[in-house]
Amino acid sequence: MQNIDSLNIFTPPAPCPSEQRLQLYFHNGMLPQNEWHIENHLLTCETCSKWLENYEKNHSPNLANYLENIIHLKLQLQRLGLEHISTEQFGNNSTALLDFLAKKNCQPIRGYETIIAQKTRSSATEIESPNPLGSFVNKSIQFTGSKTYTSMQLHISNNQLTNIYDAPISNPFTLNLTPQTFPDGLYYYKLMDEEEELLTVGKFYVYRE
Ligand SMILES: [Zn+2]
Repeated sequence: MQNIDSLNIFTPPAPCPSEQRLQLYFHNGMLPQNEWHIENHLLTCETCSKWLENYEKNHSPNLANYLENIIHLKLQLQRLGLEHISTEQFGNNSTALLDFLAKKNCQPIRGYETIIAQKTRSSATEIESPNPLGSFVNKSIQFTGSKTYTSMQLHISNNQLTNIYDAPISNPFTLNLTPQTFPDGLYYYKLMDEEEELLTVGKFYVYRE
């Protein structure tokens, strides 16, 4: 006879998702594959089911606001050429993100934006990461070129065109973003090979919430 209890021993319970992720699930803000994980978890976790039940009681009237916010965010990201970026990581904090993108430190530079668009269209598998079209980072950012490069040249400036970083780097290279040197805002970078030939131009946002 099959022992149900013994089966449970071999299926360790998955860790509970964060409250932010449960909220996101509730507001249909998740990718289908992640939704599936949450649903699976809810089947076995009473704590999370209860939490979600309570959340539903308290938050349903805000749903329209939330959706409006998400649509606004999507349009804003599209305007900035950031439509590839998943909004999932921001949970229901899209208002804060919109405020952030509207700041002076985040205003795009047209010249750079044009080059990024052209370069991305024409290129190039020379750079594996980061995505030249932009990403949100807070503690560090990794630059990875194709294996043919043992080292590269990295140049970074902020959106006032102030030089922030200019040095040879290893491949791959992780740059730590201290708040002193990299305050929140938009940054543009260039990666060059050892002969100073331009490999890529890209941008990233430092966003610490
Ligand atoms: Zn749980």
